[in-house]
Amino acid sequence: MKVLSKTDFIHYLRCPDSLWLKKNKPDKFKNGELSLFLSKLIKEGYEVEEYAKKLFPNGVEVSRNSGIDLTKAILKQNNEVLFQPSFKTQSGAFAIADILKKVDKNSYHLYEVKSSTSVKKDKIHNHLKDVCFQKFVLTECGINISTSNIIHLNEDFIKNGDIDHNELLTIEDVTDDIDAIYSSVVNEINSALNYIDKADNDEDKCSCIHKTRSNHCDSFEYFNKGIPEYSIYQLRIIREKKLNELIDLGCQDLIDVPADFKLNDYQQSQIISITNNKPVIHKNEIKNQLDNLKYPLHFFDYETYSSAVPKVDGLGPHGKLTFQVSIHTLTKEGSLTHCEYLSDKMQIIPDLVQKMKDFTGLTGTFISWHASFEIGRNDEMIALMPQYKDYLSYINANMFDLEIIFKKNYIDYRCKGSSSLKKVLPIICPGFSYDNEEIQDGTTAMEAWGDLMINSKDSNLKDQIRSNLLSYCKKDSKAMVEIHKELSKV
Ligand code: SF4
Repeated sequence: MKVLSKTDFIHYLRCPDSLWLKKNKPDKFKNGELSLFLSKLIKEGYEVEEYAKKLFPNGVEVSRNSGIDLTKAILKQNNEVLFQPSFKTQSGAFAIADILKKVDKNSYHLYEVKSSTSVKKDKIHNHLKDVCFQKFVLTECGINISTSNIIHLNEDFIKNGDIDHNELLTIEDVTDDIDAIYSSVVNEINSALNYIDKADNDEDKCSCIHKTRSNHCDSFEYFNKGIPEYSIYQLRIIREKKLNELIDLGCQDLIDVPADFKLNDYQQSQIISITNNKPVIHKNEIKNQLDNLKYPLHFFDYETYSSAVPKVDGLGPHGKLTFQVSIHTLTKEGSLTHCEYLSDKMQIIPDLVQKMKDFTGLTGTFISWHASFEIGRNDEMIALMPQYKDYLSYINANMFDLEIIFKKNYIDYRCKGSSSLKKVLPIICPGFSYDNEEIQDGTTAMEAWGDLMINSKDSNLKDQIRSNLLSYCKKDSKAMVEIHKELSKV
């Protein structure tokens, strides 16, 4: 009999086959690209729990994962509040309740702690189903739950000095919501328990073979062996109906898509690109776009930090602090200069914007990749530092998104339908890569800087992390310079 935790159950709701693989053939199961991001979420969840415990000053710590027997022993002691008691049903469902409060001889209030700023009820994150799972396990173990509650972050909270847990957190009574869905969720839990115990599963295909790429998990290749390197799933934003028409025609390889099959312009260009083994380049459009840019060109990139429980005065839960910038400025004559700033304080300080302003002035065009991100950060900084409104507004009004060219006018099948910088760069500039970088993505940069600010004491290690961060951000802005150079030649 296999154990089903709450996390497993949520996994089952997203995809039974994926959970089956994890439980039955863990060596074949890939944790996925999101694992770093997920581990950050888990860490943040623990931090919110620590604040939630302060709402119950007399609570007794059973201690996470310390065991069902210890929980039973502590339950007998008649404590009013328990933190992290664990329970397991006869059928293998296992739960660690965040907080359990005894209200009378026969009943308890159950509290589930979330690091979000609201109770999520959508298909991907359904907190109510989490609570149903906990209630089911506890009920099966003889604990009568009279109310179910979710403790989450208060979306209006803004940090100002020491954090008051009463202001940081909100308690929502979700008893009625739970009652409304409880019996159907219990059926789902029982189905999940049966599913993971199945000795066999169809491993030759899974239902995502008929679904678009956004539905696929990292087990797609395992379940659907033989999918070509360049496949119909890479047709950018293809609708499921179209995808299945192609499957019905016997096409899986991009190169097999009939020339007269109706697709949108971008998708059509992907087919032309693979057929001719060269990119489809709309030279005039690219030239017009580049000709409209005002020199000097400031290629720039921000790195940001955020945390569920705000660490920075002036920010709320999940608020973003822009801690780093790299700018490469190119003049019309072709000279390239570089400016960078990496904050060494976890606070809103104007130095980053001041350094940018001193370097660029209110001139030229600012170029970023996926500019909505930089525009959003500038808007936030305007609200926090209104003295820089003119400068940051100038940037936003004179921003060019280099990614746009790769969404419309430069289509190479080797980008696999993606216009992300990390996918485009090795295709356009094969000699320029991130391979030697210790930090290779924004989430790692955020984690590294957070560690540098909060945990790192060793000065050699601190220097190394700083150097890695500077190198990574510099590479992002330089990558745009290199791509611009290649586009100027087309
Ligand atoms: S690819 Fe889709 S159906 Fe297949 S295991 Fe992953 S989520 Fe499930």
